[in-house]
Amino acid sequence: MIEIPESLTIAGQLNDTVRGKRIAEVEAEHTKHSFAWYAGEPQEYAGKMVGKTVGASHGIGSMVEVELEDYRFTVGEGINIRYFEPGEKLPEKYQMRIIFEDDSSLICSVQMYGAMFLFKPEEYDNFYYLVAKEKPMPGTEGFDYPYFKSLKEDLNGNLSAKAMLATEQRIPGLGNGVLQDILLEAGIHPKRKIGSLREDDWKHLFEAVVNTLWQMTEKGGRDTEKNLFGQTGGYHTKLSKKTLGKPCVYCASPIQKASYLGGTIYFCAQCQKI
Ligand SMILES: [Zn+2]
Repeated sequence: MIEIPESLTIAGQLNDTVRGKRIAEVEAEHTKHSFAWYAGEPQEYAGKMVGKTVGASHGIGSMVEVELEDYRFTVGEGINIRYFEPGEKLPEKYQMRIIFEDDSSLICSVQMYGAMFLFKPEEYDNFYYLVAKEKPMPGTEGFDYPYFKSLKEDLNGNLSAKAMLATEQRIPGLGNGVLQDILLEAGIHPKRKIGSLREDDWKHLFEAVVNTLWQMTEKGGRDTEKNLFGQTGGYHTKLSKKTLGKPCVYCASPIQKASYLGGTIYFCAQCQKI
């Protein structure tokens, strides 16, 4: 699933690749998928999109948004969005294809579930979208230490570090993927109760959030995810399915995994205190 580093990377690649192109044709719901979500009727997408020129693209949390004049086309975290050159072989199955006048195209495919929303911003009230737009993203000016600490105000001290950082849309786009390396950098176990964290721990955690996400973005996303061209990102994850059982980069203890809060967590039992 894409998260902040990948949404920013893909948005940058869209700006370099399709910005300024005009849409000639749109296929929506090319292959039916039970967990592909659209805003309104997908059959109406072509009528709204054809003839529009692509404007700027943005990473917003784990979403990628493309400006299409008065419309916005936004894909959620479960969507693979790929660019295809004119004449390049296309996959057989996909949910959406946006074809440009030069015959290049963007293809959207659902992984397990995912949303491809087309809407006018002033008419849109999707909760996840509005929250992601409104809250400051790590790495932006509004996401400073006082703001980060304000996120934990009123939270129960029994809440775990994972629950605090990666649930309830407290930090949109910080999900169970990027979470792992962030907590390793901070030396905090995902199950650690936030009530046990001291001021120094919070400072380290804040720095780990900002620095880890910055490094992941700088390297074009994580090596577990793909970019607009189908290539994996250049950031080598320290804790992921790729490093399970391998030595921790800091202490050489084997990386372990567990199921926790609806996802797999990876951790180093030496470096991350519970
Ligand atoms: Zn370690």
